[in-house]
Amino acid sequence: MLPRLAGQGAVPRIYDTPTRQLLEARPIDVAGLYVCGITPYDATHIGHAATYIAYDTLIRLWLDAGYRVRYVQNTTDVDDPLLERAAATGVDWRSLAAEQTELFRRDMESLGVIPPDHYVAATEMIEQVADAVRRLLDRGIAYPIDHDIYFDIAAAAASSPWHLGQESNLDRPTMLELFAERGGDPERPGKRDALDPLLWRSARAGEPSWETVLGAGRPGWHIECSVIAQEFLDLPLTVNGGGSDLVFPHHEFSAGHTAALTGKPLANLYSHTGLVAYRGEKMSKSLGNLVLVSTLIGSGVDVRAIRLAVLSQHYRDDWEWTDDLLAEAQERLARWSAWASSGRSAGTSSILEGIRLALVHDLDTPTALAAVDAPATRGSAPAEGDLAAIDALLGIRLSDPRATRGADQSHRDKEMHHG
Ligand code: ZN
Repeated sequence: MLPRLAGQGAVPRIYDTPTRQLLEARPIDVAGLYVCGITPYDATHIGHAATYIAYDTLIRLWLDAGYRVRYVQNTTDVDDPLLERAAATGVDWRSLAAEQTELFRRDMESLGVIPPDHYVAATEMIEQVADAVRRLLDRGIAYPIDHDIYFDIAAAAASSPWHLGQESNLDRPTMLELFAERGGDPERPGKRDALDPLLWRSARAGEPSWETVLGAGRPGWHIECSVIAQEFLDLPLTVNGGGSDLVFPHHEFSAGHTAALTGKPLANLYSHTGLVAYRGEKMSKSLGNLVLVSTLIGSGVDVRAIRLAVLSQHYRDDWEWTDDLLAEAQERLARWSAWASSGRSAGTSSILEGIRLALVHDLDTPTALAAVDAPATRGSAPAEGDLAAIDALLGIRLSDPRATRGADQSHRDKEMHHG
């Protein structure tokens, strides 16, 4: 439960990738949010944390504006990178996925990220995906090559409100480059268009597969998200979100599949977060430069400092994780904590409107943090409403002694508080 705040926040405006402008993320009744989840083979690194903290901020703004939120996230628990990692380490792919999924959820909880209403695993949706692909085949919007099945971009554009480039706004040479780089197969003989994405991969020796109306196989990635969004949320979504490396091909084709299947757009607004680098390069398993949330927590770093370090960067920027950045966040947390324990002043919050104003303008968390810095540095004691605002909108709990101290200390604090 988030603390109640005085008054009501405005509807947030956030950057929409297709139109390249800030749009009001105004829910029709209930806010529908779908954020692409992880492939569970590398435990939560700061790049993941940054993406999910950004959409956590958006959820907090919707709640503050008086909306209910329905939030769904998938888990791509059967996919090439996961299978490759499992094979390379001699672990069963199911155990690897289960273990990494669990670690991810624990990390998110530690970071104060409000969990989705539904985490949906790809392996729970095999039948629904196969049925959807069957419908596309029947309508001539999909075609087989051997027993694999591809989405026909041209046929989809002719029969639905979607066309190639609608979501990503990219030119064809760029699309071809990204498609090859991010798991696509532009060179495969028999494809009607080099960019046609895979909907269904037929069973291969040594790979997991499921018996379905399409025969044995497993789902492609874009159709997985499209079907999960259709099953669990009303379309169009208020926001479809994810890292900026999902702009193309993933979100483009999730939108294409959805439009072809339902006649509706996937989302009213497509939002993307910047990428996080470490030591000069994008954080990735293959480069071995991951900064893991669990490692930081294990080394004694306060989770609130990790969250503050992430919030000190704008979610759409590409940025670099550094030791200095973490040290600054730790100092900030110490300053804020000292302020929070300096007593209480009467009256209403002096920072609530400043935080709201910053955040509803494209989730401007750096400016929101600065709004807290000013009174925290001046030193006059905070009002209850100040701490409630920091908790509800930024996800940083300064007032709860359990967050920083052991159970004994917390017990003593409570006693003192009563006295
Ligand atoms: Zn997705």
